[in-house]
Amino acid sequence: MDAKTLAIHAGYDKDSQLTMAVPLYQTTAFEFKSTEHGADLFALRQLGNIYTRLSNPTTDVLEKRFAQVEGGNAALATASGMSAIFYAIVNVCEPGDNIIAADKLYGGTYNQFVHTLKRFGIEVRFFDTFNVSSAEDLVDDKTKAIFFESITNPSIDVIDIESIVNIAKKHNIMSMVDNTVATPYLFRPFDWGIDISVHSTSKYVTGQGLAMGGIIVERNGLNDFLKSNPRYAHFNEPDMSYHGLVYTDLDFPAFCLRARLGLMRDLGAVPAPFNSWLLIQGLETLSLRIKEHSKSTLKIAQVLKTNANVKEIKYPLLEGDKNYDNAVKYLKDGASGLLSFDVGSFDKAKSVIDKLEIFSLVTNIGDTKSIVTHSASTTHQQLSNEDLLACGVTPGLIRLSVGLEDVDDLINDLQNALA
Ligand code: PLP
Repeated sequence: MDAKTLAIHAGYDKDSQLTMAVPLYQTTAFEFKSTEHGADLFALRQLGNIYTRLSNPTTDVLEKRFAQVEGGNAALATASGMSAIFYAIVNVCEPGDNIIAADKLYGGTYNQFVHTLKRFGIEVRFFDTFNVSSAEDLVDDKTKAIFFESITNPSIDVIDIESIVNIAKKHNIMSMVDNTVATPYLFRPFDWGIDISVHSTSKYVTGQGLAMGGIIVERNGLNDFLKSNPRYAHFNEPDMSYHGLVYTDLDFPAFCLRARLGLMRDLGAVPAPFNSWLLIQGLETLSLRIKEHSKSTLKIAQVLKTNANVKEIKYPLLEGDKNYDNAVKYLKDGASGLLSFDVGSFDKAKSVIDKLEIFSLVTNIGDTKSIVTHSASTTHQQLSNEDLLACGVTPGLIRLSVGLEDVDDLINDLQNALA
């Protein structure tokens, strides 16, 4: 079935009331029918709900539906994109391990990698996003993942994905993509051989800026890759925190299962059922919205390119953009609503932003409402100049998240502010 159909129907067997909308199970806990039933659930002899930190029927629909929409095998929903990224990494790393990451990343991810993962004894080795082959020099026997964003935020680059996946496969290392900006509609991670995809669903999936969320999706067949792979010994050894369970011995997608049974159980960044329910609503219309966001953004990029006050403009599907060839190769149906342009200085950027009337000054993306962000003074403020440049942020850089308003109204607003 097509992803558009799956986004509306997958993962939901109508309940006893035959409700058309997925029911919201706003509950913390679930009753056991007997002591034996409770014991069976805890021992995984039977599958069922125990406590919402471990599973919830509303969140379960979101997970099953999202995994199918993206063409994956299983998913684990989390409370935010940051927790999805953290869980994906610590699901494969122990203290002393390392991961390799592209140097153009969302600022929060960069911070988590450089500062927080370090506190957990995990080293992150960065490679040049535009020199992917250099990643191979960083690999050693403690390397557990290669991580990158399919469309980078805020720098809006599209990396040479095929070469990264080839390096990962050559060394039997897991490849992980943050597919937040592209969404499952613009980029299909598993068609390109990527093992794990993570998302902040707080962006295009919720779509109207209504709910925080994150999700981890694993590809079909990942258990075969994990089984007996010496890099991922803990998937093949008894987990003493779970009755000596060996994840790859089970007939369940092992990556998400281990993240749920270990990390979600012990760290608890669980989505509220209501947020899962909101994300289900968002997912139903994502295919239409992301196409429209992309169409309007390309038109705006084409107009801004001709504006004398715009020094540099970035949109991957704009002819002449340095990412154009990769964008055409990897992205379907558009390059999202993210566009950035440089007006030359911090002060000019401030003046343009303050004159905009339709665009709201907000640190978010993926909303129906158009958003403008000045990364240097907000999201990336805590980074050093060196780290800023590594993330592709300059003082005059203005980033837009183009919404679903009439595109000509948006163009007028921008042209007036730039005049
Ligand atoms: N990944 C990307 C590409 C993002 O843009 C963001 C947030 O902006 C995140 C991850 C973090 O997601 P969240 O804000 O849901 O924690």
